Amino acid sequence: MTTKLLQFVNQKQEMPKKRSSSLRLKDFDEIYKDFNKLEANKQAGRCSQCGIPFCQVHCPLHNNIPDWLKLAAENRLEEAYEVSQSTNNFPEICGSICPQDRLCEGNCVIEKGFESVTIGRVEKHITDTAWKKGWVKPIKLTREINKSIGIVGSGPAGLAAAEELRKKGYKVEIYDKYDRPGGLLIYGIPNFKLEKYAVQRRTKILKESGIVFHNNFEVGKTKPFNFLKKKHDAILIATGVYKAKELDFSEENLTKIVPALDFLITNNKKDLGDNVPEYDNGKLNSINKNVVVIGGGDTAMDCVRTAVRQNAKSVTCLYRRNRENMPGSMREVSHAEEEGIKFSWLSVPTKFKGINNHIDIEVAEVVLGKPDASGRMVPKILLNKTHTLKADLIIKALGFDPENIPKMFNESKLKVTDWGTLKINHETMMTSEPGVFAAGDIVRGASLVVWAIKDGRDAAESIHKYLIKC
Ligand code: FAD
Ligand code: SF4
Ligand code: SF4
Repeated sequence: MTTKLLQFVNQKQEMPKKRSSSLRLKDFDEIYKDFNKLEANKQAGRCSQCGIPFCQVHCPLHNNIPDWLKLAAENRLEEAYEVSQSTNNFPEICGSICPQDRLCEGNCVIEKGFESVTIGRVEKHITDTAWKKGWVKPIKLTREINKSIGIVGSGPAGLAAAEELRKKGYKVEIYDKYDRPGGLLIYGIPNFKLEKYAVQRRTKILKESGIVFHNNFEVGKTKPFNFLKKKHDAILIATGVYKAKELDFSEENLTKIVPALDFLITNNKKDLGDNVPEYDNGKLNSINKNVVVIGGGDTAMDCVRTAVRQNAKSVTCLYRRNRENMPGSMREVSHAEEEGIKFSWLSVPTKFKGINNHIDIEVAEVVLGKPDASGRMVPKILLNKTHTLKADLIIKALGFDPENIPKMFNESKLKVTDWGTLKINHETMMTSEPGVFAAGDIVRGASLVVWAIKDGRDAAESIHKYLIKC
């Protein structure tokens, strides 16, 4: 069926159906059902085909959104897929987990008054259809170039770069310290946002394309960085950022206070069917516990929503600002609210005290002052206004800092910024070492999957330019 375009006046915005919160708390499955063909077709037809599409401008990959929406509305899904995959290595992943309300959809011109086009979910529908119909195929090279690139890190930045370099004919090898490729796509982001089969089928097709994966290979430990330098013609560092930010007071070494990623990785491993002693021995699960999550970003939302699915007795999110000033996606906050999470806004922990099997948290109230340079209101802690909250498990979701890569890799020539991220020439993506490039969170700091893909693609282009000159 072909749907006429410009239907935003007659056709309401609809997301795919969401499973009820009572049902979704019983498992870790994706909360949205998929659009069927007719639903995707109707939603794509709401687009007004803007001459200057702000959706595209605000998509980090500058996806040709109006073009693939038009093709989807005309039921020409194979062509829609071709256009969509030409700018994005993992459209179905971005369609699921981009914070569209801050990117493409938040800038759709019909947002004001009519609600934006449901861009992300149509993007997902197009590529999911491509997978079902067999249109997604491994790369077949006509000629392999006798130059090889070593990529450290198999997150979205590393994978996108690997695919682009392989398409150009290079030999590509990816090294990752984890046992499965995918980086935070596989071990950070919970299954209810991004089902793991979507990541696994991507890495499988990259293997079938001739890209070599070395898992359980920690560069700097398994082998020195120098080993890669000798083996490859160029190197891409895409190691992400993993060092948890800390609270600004002492935690008395309490074992019941854990970093968000430890908690999420454990849960994802369990969900993937692994044997996970930290989960089974009760150290890193929330079963029947009063759980307090500190932080207000997307990672905090992932933690509260994971805890409630693990059957916690209660889950509270402590955040120092209010709902309007939360840094994460509002869609994710609404999902957490629907799932029964208690939010304690304008609250900060100021002291922890271990009592028998639980921890007493001293919580101080906060008032918001004037906005800072980023436009967010500065919290002022009222130390004379406190109350006590009891917790059996505290999860710190305060953000991430980069590891000290020059030290880990024993490469003093690698320069870093004041924030500890790798310093690159932003035109060439090259670090201070010739032939060594960097992309993704290790350059930007904690960011988004879509930006990591963009960086990976840009790095591949730069590596290609560098190698043809060598
Ligand atoms: P990563 O995905 O972190 O991958 C880096 C890889 O490098 C890892 O596999 C790691 O094992 C490997 N590595 C590190 N050091 C070494 C070494 N020495 N040797 C070998 N391998 C090494 N973004 C969104 O857009 N939407 C979301 O909903 C979203 N949710 C998130 C939820 C959580 C809990 C977290 C933590 C992040 C989330 N993000 C989200 C952010 C997103 O996941 C990251 O921005 C993105 O994954 C960064 O990609 P990357 O390739 O740079 O690094
Ligand atoms: Fe929107 Fe992300 Fe897709 Fe770009 S990649 S169109 S920002 S969902
Ligand atoms: Fe279509 Fe909205 Fe993009 Fe305009 S801004 S082209 S209406 S999706």
